[in-house]
Amino acid sequence: MTLPVLLRQNSEPERVRALQQLGVLNTNTSDYFDRVTTLAKTLFDVSGAYISLLDSDRQWIKSAVGYCPPNTDRDKTFCQYTIAQASVLVIEDTLRDPRFAGNPLVAGPQGVRFYAGAPLVTQDGYAIGALCLIDQRTRPLAASDQERLATLAGLVMAHITLGRAVGHVDAVSGMPNKYQLADDLGAAAALAPGAQRVLVDLAMPDAARAFEIIRVMGAAVHDQLVREVGARLQQLFADRAQVYHLGDTRFALLSRDADSDAFIDYLYGLDAALQTPLTSLNIPLVLPGFGGIVRVALDADSAADAPRQAAAAVNQALSAQQRWSLYSDSEDAHQQRAFRLLHDVRRAIADGEFELVYQPKHDLPGGACHGAEALLRWHHRELGAISPAEFIPLIETTALIGPLSDWVINTAIAQLGAWHAAGHLVKVALNLSAWNFEEPDLVDRLAAACRQHRVDPRYVEIECTEGVWMESADILATLHRIRALGMGLALDDFGTGYSNFAYLQKVPATVVKVDQSLIRHVHTSPRDQRIVRSLIALARELDYQVVAEGVETAQSLALIREWGCDVAQGFHFSKPLGAGAFIDYLVRHQHGADNTS
Ligand code: C2E
Ligand code: MG
Ligand code: MG
Repeated sequence: MTLPVLLRQNSEPERVRALQQLGVLNTNTSDYFDRVTTLAKTLFDVSGAYISLLDSDRQWIKSAVGYCPPNTDRDKTFCQYTIAQASVLVIEDTLRDPRFAGNPLVAGPQGVRFYAGAPLVTQDGYAIGALCLIDQRTRPLAASDQERLATLAGLVMAHITLGRAVGHVDAVSGMPNKYQLADDLGAAAALAPGAQRVLVDLAMPDAARAFEIIRVMGAAVHDQLVREVGARLQQLFADRAQVYHLGDTRFALLSRDADSDAFIDYLYGLDAALQTPLTSLNIPLVLPGFGGIVRVALDADSAADAPRQAAAAVNQALSAQQRWSLYSDSEDAHQQRAFRLLHDVRRAIADGEFELVYQPKHDLPGGACHGAEALLRWHHRELGAISPAEFIPLIETTALIGPLSDWVINTAIAQLGAWHAAGHLVKVALNLSAWNFEEPDLVDRLAAACRQHRVDPRYVEIECTEGVWMESADILATLHRIRALGMGLALDDFGTGYSNFAYLQKVPATVVKVDQSLIRHVHTSPRDQRIVRSLIALARELDYQVVAEGVETAQSLALIREWGCDVAQGFHFSKPLGAGAFIDYLVRHQHGADNTS
C-alpha cells in the first residue's frame, strides 16, 4: 500500500500539532467511524477493531467495536509502533515481539495475541493514529488484507479531513475556527464537567491596525501575516492550548492545562515572545496583540457563553489599550447594558419612551425667563429612568443618533409651535451631536420642521459641543446654513475640552455656554473665578452671547452677573421641567425671577 505522501517521522511536536489542528481529539464518535470499525471487525474476523488517535502523551479511542484497549498513556499503546512506520504493521504473535510481549494487555488477563494497524496519515504526511485490529489468538494477515486495512484507514482519514474542512476550518489559515471552538468546549464540558479551562480571545493585531495593513500592503500580505500569527501562536502554545482562528485577526486559545493560574501566568509572561517581529515579509513587523481572558468552569452553560465573555474581555483590553484583560462580571454587565440600550433605541422611539424636559434660561442682569434648553429623558420600560449622560455618549457614536435626534428636533419644534400658537414667544435650544452635522439633509429637516409647526427659526438654537470635528469644510458649510436659516448656534460645554480660540473665528457660533464644571464652584474657587471671568470677557469681546450653565447658588449668580454674563441656567433657578410645568414657570418668571438676586 502506497501512502499519499512520505511519512514524516522526525518531528513529533509537528505531528501532534497536525493532529490537534484536525480537531478530532475529544470529540464524540460518529456513525461513520463506527461503521468502519464494525466493517473491519467483520471483514477480518477479529475480536476487536478500533480507531486510535495518538496525542503527545495518550491514546484517544475515536471509535471501537468488540474488544478494545482503554484510553491509555501513549507509551503503553500498540499503535505508537504503527505510526512510527510508513506501512501497515502486523504482529502475528505479540508474545514473540519484544515490543509487545511486555505490554499489560498482552501479558495480562486480556491476553492480546494479535495486532495489526494501518496508520492514519494526513495530507501533509503526519501519522496521527491508526485503524487497528486485535485478536486473542495468533494469526497472519495476508498481503491483500493488509491492503484492505490500509484502504479503510484511508477512508477514515479522508472523512476526518472532510469533516474538518466543512465549516470547521478557517479558509485563510487552515486552523480550526469558532465553530470548532464551540464544538470543543461543548465536548470538553461533556467529558470533564467541572474542569477548569482558560479561554483567551486574542486580537493580533487589532482591527484598526489590520485595516491599515490591508490598505497599505494589500489583502494577500494581510492573509500571510494572519497565517504567521497563527503559526506563532501554535508554536507558543503547542502543549498548553488548542489555537483557533476566529476570523480576520482574531484568534482563540483554549487551555489544556487544568491549572488555570499557571496558564494565565504563562500568558502574562509572553510579552517578549509576542513582540518578536514577524519575518515573513521583507520588513520585520511588530504587531500589537490584545487578549481577553476568561476562566471557564466547564458545564454546558459556561461552554456556550465563554466565547462571548472572552470577546467582551478583549474589547475591554482594546479600549484600555492593555495587553491582557481578565473577564469581569461587572464589566460584562456594563457592556451588556450598553448593548441593550443601543438595541432598544428604535423601539423606544416608537413606543414613546423618550421625553423632552425644559430647563429655564434667565436673561441677566434682569432675570426674566424667555427660553429653555430641551433635554432628553428616557423612561425605559424595564430599566427605568436612564440619564442622557449614560445613553447619549453610547448612541452618538452610532448612526442611531440620526433617528433619535430627528425625534428631538420634531418634538421640540412641535412643542415650540404649540407654545407660540398659545401666545408664549419662548426660545428653545436643542442639543445635537457631532454625527448629526454630517447628515446631508439636517438643515432641510430643521427648516421643514419649522415650516410644519409654524415656528420662526430665530426662536430655535442648536447646541453642540465644540471639537476638532467642526473644522471640516462640509461641517462648517452646514453650520453656516443653520445660521442662514436664522437659528442660533451655541458652543456647549465651553472651556473644558478643545477650547481653541483660533477656530472660533471660523465657526459661525452665536452663543458660548461656559461649562457647568467651571461654574458650579465659582463662588468658592479663586482659580475658577479667574478662568470664568476671562472666558466671559473674551467671548463678549468676540461678540458672543455668553450663557453660564450649572448655576447652583446665589453667590455664583452674583459673580457671573457682575462679569457681564448674558444668560444663566441651573438648579439655582430650576431643574429641567416637563412641558406643562415649564410654561407655568415661564408665565411666573417672564418679567424677572424672584431668585435672580
Ligand atoms: P448639556 O447639554 O451640557 O446639558 C446640561 C446638563 O446639565 C443637563 O444634564 C442638565 O440637567 C444639567 N444641569 C443643568 N443645570 C445644572 C446644575 O445647576 N447643576 C448640575 N449639577 N447639573 C445641571 P442632562 O439632562 O443629564 O444632560 C446631559 C447631557 O446629555 C447634556 O449636557 C447633553 O450633552 C446631552 N443631551 C441631553 N439631551 C440631549 C439631546 O436631546 N440630544 C443630544 N445629542 N444630547 C443631549
Ligand atoms: Mg446643552
Ligand atoms: Mg453643557
